[in-house]
Amino acid sequence: MDSGGAGMSEILQPCPFCGGTKICTEKGINLNYCDNCSAESNVERWNTRPIEDELRAENVRLNSWLDEVIKQGNYLEHTLRLAYEHVNGHAFVHGWRDMVNHIQKEREE
Ligand SMILES: [Zn+2]
Repeated sequence: MDSGGAGMSEILQPCPFCGGTKICTEKGINLNYCDNCSAESNVERWNTRPIEDELRAENVRLNSWLDEVIKQGNYLEHTLRLAYEHVNGHAFVHGWRDMVNHIQKEREE
């Protein structure tokens, strides 16, 4: 049984089901369990979260895409403002600005 560095130095992640942070280890049966909801897993697998990792990576990709959309939107707005300054294009420009403001507000919450 490997009782070396990994177990000692690796910080146990919170419970994936309830978010509980009191995680107990039963070394004899190689089990970690959540003191709050009793969710359990092999010691080696407790910190393995393939779906969470995938979702985090996807979140990073989407946020980066949103940044690009907002950047392009700001550029588009700027361009339109110049082009439509003296024409009836203001409604569209304001519509885009509102949408960007809305997206930015949503992301901050
Ligand atoms: Zn739990």
